[in-house]
Amino acid sequence: MDFHCAHKEPCMAATNSTATDWARRDARVVQHPHGDAADPDRLVLVRGKGSTLWDVEGREYIDAHAGAWLTQVGHGREELAKVAAEQMSALAHFTIMNDFANPPTIEFCEKLVERAPKNIAKVRLMGSGSEADDEALQLVRLFHYRRGQPQRTKILVLRGSYHGRTYGGAELAGGRPGIGEVPDGAIMLTPPWPYHAELFGGENLTDFCVRELEQAIARVGAENIAAMFGELVMGPAGMIPAPDDYWPRMVEVLRSHGILFVADEVVTAFGRAGAWYTSLDYHLAPDIIVLAKGIASGYVPLGALLLDGDVADVLDGASGGGSYAGHLMASAVASANIDIIERENLLEASRLRGAQFLEELRELLNLPVVGDVRGRGLMVGVELVSDKTTRQPLLDRFPNLKKDIDRFVRTRHGVILGIHGGTIALTPPLVITPREVSRVVDAVGDTLARVNIHTG
Ligand code: PLP
Repeated sequence: MDFHCAHKEPCMAATNSTATDWARRDARVVQHPHGDAADPDRLVLVRGKGSTLWDVEGREYIDAHAGAWLTQVGHGREELAKVAAEQMSALAHFTIMNDFANPPTIEFCEKLVERAPKNIAKVRLMGSGSEADDEALQLVRLFHYRRGQPQRTKILVLRGSYHGRTYGGAELAGGRPGIGEVPDGAIMLTPPWPYHAELFGGENLTDFCVRELEQAIARVGAENIAAMFGELVMGPAGMIPAPDDYWPRMVEVLRSHGILFVADEVVTAFGRAGAWYTSLDYHLAPDIIVLAKGIASGYVPLGALLLDGDVADVLDGASGGGSYAGHLMASAVASANIDIIERENLLEASRLRGAQFLEELRELLNLPVVGDVRGRGLMVGVELVSDKTTRQPLLDRFPNLKKDIDRFVRTRHGVILGIHGGTIALTPPLVITPREVSRVVDAVGDTLARVNIHTG
């Protein structure tokens, strides 16, 4: 295998003492999730505007990552900074436990509910997506408990899906190496991944998955199952949108067995996949919708649960939420974030730029390592394979390429992107311009054209 990467090209790697100093200090005290302590390189970012980022030495980058898929309205919004400063000066926070309330939180929750599927009535505010997923896991069990069915505890999930970093999240992932036993084993279902037709044995994908769901329910017993959790577009697994009939048909089966449906829209909502909530696109009425990320475009850390009216009634008064639930400053900023998305028509922008990405990326299907190009809104994926016939993941076979691709596209082309589960993820702020989209596609194309696999 040969990759003509940044190591052989004139590269903009950190040579200036400023970046090097920060990198050294960082390596001494900061542990990076998924980081490599042995790798001295750091990208030290200091400023952003729209879809542009600058590092500590003034180098400019196109942000096709959005800091974990969440900076919907783009970087450097002074309007949000002003809202935060004003609210913090007036009253930064006071709990909403018991009977305490505040106007920014009320207004923000009204905006969330107004845009949601009609069955949604109430909001529970949380600090992040993981916390919200964990809370949802507790609430679906509490729901059945309060209705006299305490044995309904089992959870259905899609294999390879991600529902946060807590122990509850680990339970939904079927456990994680090295953290001991998780409370209860989730029941794994086949992910709706059209590119991997081999998963469905030649059958229609949705027919296969619906049958598998019915069989799992028959095996475990509907009376033992609390809920199914599902990412409406699987993000961390590789930006995988399901066929249009998949979720409606799956949810119909769940309903017929009294099993709750939790839509994990931590990534998909607030325009990331082109709508306020992807549940609306599929005409779904989830019992719980899990939110985070784009909810405040990352200007403040925030998560939330939207609750169906009947579910909310049963759960009334349940504990949870924590000290920061209903944080005034966070609510005020998130409320202003919704106003910007609306005023600037960023849902439509997401759909248009997403369509442009797909059209331009399709050219790359000619490259030997590009197996599939897919997406919904600005959740765009380029799946890399080492063999187009077997669809074997390229990065399973050549794991070191992940860093080479990432570094080359960054240092040579000034583009920041993510690589997840063998797929290049293109998830820029929704304000990315058509010209920037083309530049990102050119950068990805040039980089992947240099991946030269000699399989002998
Ligand atoms: N759910 C999904 C689908 C996610 O992609 C993520 C994070 O990537 C989470 C939950 C967890 O959210 P957070 O990182 O805010 O804890």
